[in-house]
Amino acid sequence: METPGLIPNPEVKHPVLVAVVSYKKPNHQAVFHFMKKISKTEAREHISTFFQNIKNKSPEEIKKIKRLAMRHKIPLREKRKNLCKKCLAPYKNPKIRIKKKTKTTTCENCGCVARYKI
Ligand SMILES: [Zn+2]
Repeated sequence: METPGLIPNPEVKHPVLVAVVSYKKPNHQAVFHFMKKISKTEAREHISTFFQNIKNKSPEEIKKIKRLAMRHKIPLREKRKNLCKKCLAPYKNPKIRIKKKTKTTTCENCGCVARYKI
């Protein structure tokens, strides 16, 4: 909802909708985004279905899902290893090397190296 006439008083809390204000417009006009409040189980389902098709996702979508997981305090655990922590792009054909009980994954997008113990 970006129509200026529809902006409600942010102090009045609606039971279902949560207003998130961001100041991305150049004239510093507040933009209200409305997000439907979802439960933790719903968020967890959403995240698990998202990560089933992770290779076709964009970094922006991953950023959004990461924020959703953080908001609901859902740990990503093993899912985290499918994406680069620096540029947030999913690994499609990464360079994987195993040396001294450490798995090293090099991102093909930014060259960031991630190391995990195995
Ligand atoms: Zn990367």
